[in-house]
Amino acid sequence: MTQRDWIEKDFYRELGVASDASADEIKKAYRKLARELHPDANPGDAKAEARFKAVSEAYGVLSDEKKRREYDETRALFAGGGGYGGAGGFPGGFGSGAAGQGFDLNDLFARAGAGGSPGAGGLGDLFGGLFGGRGGAGPTTTTGSRRGADVESELRIDFVDAVRGAEVQLRLTSPGRCERCGGTGARPGSTPRACPTCGGVGLVSRSQGAFAFSEPCRDCRGTGRLIDDPCPECGGDGVSTRTRTITVRIPAGVADGQQIRLKGQGEPGRGGAPAGDLYVKVHVTPHRLFGRSERNPDDLTLTVPVTFPELALGSTVTVPTLDSTVSLRIPPGTASGRTFRVRGRGVQRKGKTGDLLVTVEVAVPSRLSDEATAALQAYAEATKEFDPRADLLGGVR
Ligand SMILES: [Zn+2]
Ligand SMILES: [Zn+2]
Repeated sequence: MTQRDWIEKDFYRELGVASDASADEIKKAYRKLARELHPDANPGDAKAEARFKAVSEAYGVLSDEKKRREYDETRALFAGGGGYGGAGGFPGGFGSGAAGQGFDLNDLFARAGAGGSPGAGGLGDLFGGLFGGRGGAGPTTTTGSRRGADVESELRIDFVDAVRGAEVQLRLTSPGRCERCGGTGARPGSTPRACPTCGGVGLVSRSQGAFAFSEPCRDCRGTGRLIDDPCPECGGDGVSTRTRTITVRIPAGVADGQQIRLKGQGEPGRGGAPAGDLYVKVHVTPHRLFGRSERNPDDLTLTVPVTFPELALGSTVTVPTLDSTVSLRIPPGTASGRTFRVRGRGVQRKGKTGDLLVTVEVAVPSRLSDEATAALQAYAEATKEFDPRADLLGGVR
């Protein structure tokens, strides 16, 4: 086992004992875990087997007085990183905390991490390992706490709801505050106690040469609390995956594919950190009649079939709006395909209102009666002076 292994692995956490646990406590904890995790008791369970190995490894070091002292000293040397980056899988890495006294440990680590190339040995190599789980040596300050992850979801609404805005109940299965314990992580009825090592602060001070560090308390993982009796639902995390129903307020005029952010509705933070956000992608089912203008999504579009006489002679037609109907006056000689703007009948938002764009389009009957045919032939004869293609064939240049 290398020194690097020691820095990355928290054997105390592996055995579930405090860093000042007596040899007896360590032995007791190990025996209990070994019984539970022994491969004979868990045939075929790879997870239990891995844990069994890790627990045995931890006990191998902590049960040997000399090795344990070496282990403690090695980890003390790399204060802050020790208890957090490694085998325990504690999220968020490590940090110097808000109470750092004029020296930022993260700064040092960030620089060291950035300077070292893989395999080059020395500090870079060493710290690279510590930062492995975080994907980089960013100078993030955490004290055993971590902002909750953002959660993504989606929902579908109909066209009218998208235009007017709506409240939608969204059922979501994602990590949320554990309902069983209310997020405390302690078995209901029991209460976490203040960590005696750090006095409930979550940080301990350590002097090292000329520097004074504040580092997350190892015994409580920076939370300031110790949970003797963890919640059976979440195992002490305070977070469990469950299905919940969330009310999503969709603003009027939402577009298809738009994302709505619900602040703080994502995964809960740990150790007092803020929750992540929930991003809901909205899909809008198209409407049978209405559309949204590409140029201005606050304008609604509608195509209205009309007859040739209605365009040629002029007329007034009744067209639907989203809430009622409106009379549209078509002047004589209107071209098919012309668009009329009906003010104020589009998306209504605070302070501004879109319009309804009505496009008229000639509908041609597929069959004509003899009477209609004769009338149209007479019409064609009467208008043979009118050549709509006069310009078309006049020359391409
Ligand atoms: Zn503590
Ligand atoms: Zn719980």
